[in-house]
Amino acid sequence: MTLKNELLQFIGTLFSPLFPKTCFGCFNILIPGELILCTFCRHELPLTHYHYGLENKMDQAFYGRVVFKKASALFYYNSEGVLKHCFQFLKYRKQEQIGLFFGAWHGRVLKLDPTFPKIDMVVPVPIHYKKKKKRGYNQLSLYGKTLAGTIEAHFNEKYLVKTANTKTQTKKNRLLRSHASLALYLLKEPQQFYHKKILLIDDIMTTGATLTSCANTFKDCPGIEIYFAAIAVVR
Ligand SMILES: [Zn+2]
Repeated sequence: MTLKNELLQFIGTLFSPLFPKTCFGCFNILIPGELILCTFCRHELPLTHYHYGLENKMDQAFYGRVVFKKASALFYYNSEGVLKHCFQFLKYRKQEQIGLFFGAWHGRVLKLDPTFPKIDMVVPVPIHYKKKKKRGYNQLSLYGKTLAGTIEAHFNEKYLVKTANTKTQTKKNRLLRSHASLALYLLKEPQQFYHKKILLIDDIMTTGATLTSCANTFKDCPGIEIYFAAIAVVR
């Protein structure tokens, strides 16, 4: 489905009598003009105010581990509160439209950042096809498509694939996670990415092991530049 069709479908569902017009943060009823989150919850979201011109803590997490140009995230992640609710609905309760909301927001922020480079392709961290079948979608797809549309880049989720269906890794330490993530990802037809600026996207960046593993699959592509973006970064 094209982004335009998805947008139309999304707008359609918002006006459907079946659509639960409640805030995903506090579950209060939304008033006309509010989408996904009420005004109060929207203001609660902890924006990082990171941009692509200055070094930030997310950059520091990748130093010495992977060749990349710059990293940034839209929000700080908290293990409770509005953002946690949003991610739970996005990932586990079939509320894919939350990705569209974040993608549009992040795209606007990046477009206004004068230090953000002209990106050729937005590539999401893939999920295993079995997980995708179970969940029904990659939670990054709609976020990534919307973000790519806003910054006028191509969205490409075909060629970077996940080859093993691993358990959620949140409880493993950084070293274990780094090892566990090795060789889980495969880049098909790498020539598609030669001499391109790639924005690799993830939902929540914790240790950076996943983005590092994904970025390393591009390492033999001549002239490639890797940038990272996440919806949220753990402080
Ligand atoms: Zn709310």
